[in-house]
Amino acid sequence: MSAPRKFALCFVAAALGGVSCDSVPQEQINPFTDLEPLPFDGTPQVVLSEISPIGKHRAGEVLRITVTTDRAGAAYLLEPDEPRTTAGVIVGGGPVNRPFVYRVARESELFLLLESPDGASVVLEPGPRDYQPPRGQNIVLEFETDFLTEALFDPELHDSADRDVLLSIEPAVRSGILARMRAIFSDTPVTLLGPDDPRPDTFSVISYSGLRVTESGPDAAVAPGSEEIVLLGEVLPRGRGIDPGNQDPKDQAVVYVGSFRGTFVMDAVNNIINPLAATGAHEAGHLLGLNHTALDGLMTRNLSFAFQRQLDFQRSQIVLDVGTGPEILTNVIQDPRLYFDRIFSAATE
Ligand SMILES: [Zn+2]
Repeated sequence: MSAPRKFALCFVAAALGGVSCDSVPQEQINPFTDLEPLPFDGTPQVVLSEISPIGKHRAGEVLRITVTTDRAGAAYLLEPDEPRTTAGVIVGGGPVNRPFVYRVARESELFLLLESPDGASVVLEPGPRDYQPPRGQNIVLEFETDFLTEALFDPELHDSADRDVLLSIEPAVRSGILARMRAIFSDTPVTLLGPDDPRPDTFSVISYSGLRVTESGPDAAVAPGSEEIVLLGEVLPRGRGIDPGNQDPKDQAVVYVGSFRGTFVMDAVNNIINPLAATGAHEAGHLLGLNHTALDGLMTRNLSFAFQRQLDFQRSQIVLDVGTGPEILTNVIQDPRLYFDRIFSAATE
C-alpha cells in the first residue's frame, strides 16, 4: 500500500474510535462491517477509505453515482462476498469524473471501491427509474487481410512454400478462433460474431492485426527466448485499459498477432488458435469490465505462456495498477459469471 492510503485508513480509524492512529492497527478496520454508509442525498461526500459502504439497495433500484477525482481511474461497486464479510465481489462500476448509473440486480448491501480514494468526492443519488442495462453484448471479430502471414512469415527463416502454408491455414485459424471464443462465452449473455455474420445495431469489435508491437503496455509479455517485451493486445484507444461496469457497448480492442511470432508450434493449427482465441477472450473481458486477476485464468496479466493451455474465466482476487505498480487487492473478488449476472438484464425482465 502507498503511504497516502495508509493515512486515509488511519484517519478513518481515528474518527471512528477517537484514538490516535499509532494505536489502531489498520487491519482492525473492516470497511465491509465497520464504516457508516455514505448518504444517498445528492451531496458531495469526501471519501477516505478505499472501500466505502453505500447502503442496502433493493432489486430494480437505479443508482446514479458521480466520483470526482484526479487519482482513481475507475469506480467499482461491490456486494459483500458473504455475510459479515471481509471481502467484496465486483458487481458493477463506471468511469470517474462523469456520472454513471447502475441498476441493482439483487437486493444487497453495496460498497464503492476507489483504487486511490485520496481527495475523491462522491455524489450518490437516485438514477432514472426506467433505466435498463443491456441484456447482453455483441462482439464482432475482424481479421485484417493476410493477418497471419504478415504476422508470422519471416523471410530469414521461411521460403515461399511456408508462405503458402500460412495463407492456406488462415481461414481455419479465423474460424477456429471464433469457435473457441464462442465456447469460452457459452452460457453468458455475450454473443461472438464472425466477419461474415450480419451486424446488429450495437456491437463491440475485436480486430486481429498482423502487427508486432513492442511498446510495453497493460498486456505486455516477454517474448520467449528474448528480453523483448511485446504487447499482445489492448483496448483502444491506447491507455483506456478497461471499460469498468461495461458502460460502453461499442468499444474496441485489438490482438497483435505479430507479437506472438516465435511462440507457436507451427505444425499444429490448434497451437496457433488457442493463444489467439484466449487473447481475444482476455481483451473481450476488458471490454466487458473485467480486471486482471491474481490467479491463472483468462484474465491473468502475462498472457503468452499460460495461454498455451485452454483456460477459462475464473473467480479470483484482482490486480490493479496503483501508483507504485501492480497490487493484488486481497479483499476484492472478481467472479465473471456473477458479474455478468449483475451487469446484464435478465431475459425474463
Ligand atoms: Zn489485460
